[in-house]
Amino acid sequence: RSFVELERLAYAYPDGTQALADISLRAHQGESVAIVGANGAGKSTLLLHLNGYLRPQQGRVRIGDLSLTKESLPAVRRLVGMVFQDPDDQLFMPTVAEDVAFGPLNQGLPVAEVERRVNDALQRVGALALRERPPYRLSGGEKRAVAIATVLAMEPAMLVLDEPSSNLDPGARRRLIRLLAGFEQTTFIATHDLDLALDLCSRTVVLREGRIVADGPTAEIFVDA
Ligand code: ADP
Ligand code: ADP
Repeated sequence: RSFVELERLAYAYPDGTQALADISLRAHQGESVAIVGANGAGKSTLLLHLNGYLRPQQGRVRIGDLSLTKESLPAVRRLVGMVFQDPDDQLFMPTVAEDVAFGPLNQGLPVAEVERRVNDALQRVGALALRERPPYRLSGGEKRAVAIATVLAMEPAMLVLDEPSSNLDPGARRRLIRLLAGFEQTTFIATHDLDLALDLCSRTVVLREGRIVADGPTAEIFVDA
């Protein structure tokens, strides 16, 4: 059985903009899926449904055994970690360590376990040395790494990343790709970065005007891109 299932999902914003229409897709556990398409195609709106920032107006979203509803929302959020496009949306504590500890503390984990997770997550993203720094004074690449660490510290079953390589210099981008290549979780990545999709995602879904217009192996999808 698939780990992620979207069934005939549709979503219109309050102003009437139809952002998604009739989206059906499934992904198996451990699969990495790139979501591509022009600005406004609906990539962010799709990702926001995967962890319940938006709830389906029509159709159904299922993650693991959880059908996304108001009642299942806290459980879905624990299952799915979301890395926003702008790290500044995710970092708000006085130090990096406090930012990474925030989620696990909120889950009620014991302090020793929180400490283990903070160090482990920062280690994995190569940001252990930034522990005591104020996030607002980090570089773009460092902020992105720390934003990813805040999500990893929750040990989610699935990761969702919105344009993770945007605004990164080539070195930071390479480090990001190396980091993401080590993830074993089911991953959805919205991106304009074809090389990143080719490196990390076996499969690519192309959106246009809120609909899926192509879905297949990344190398085949990008043949004539
Ligand atoms: P850009 O970021 O260059 O403005 P777009 O925003 O139009 O490009 O699309 C994002 C990426 O998705 C592009 O690199 C484009 O090649 C790819 N893409 C968009 N539509 C399709 C499609 N129908 N088939 C294959 N690739 C596509
Ligand atoms: P993408 O991530 O591919 O750029 P989005 O999911 O952000 O696309 O947007 C899909 C459509 O929904 C676009 O037409 C966009 O203008 C519109 N949209 C996005 N956010 C809002 C919002 N908060 N209110 C109204 N329309 C929105």
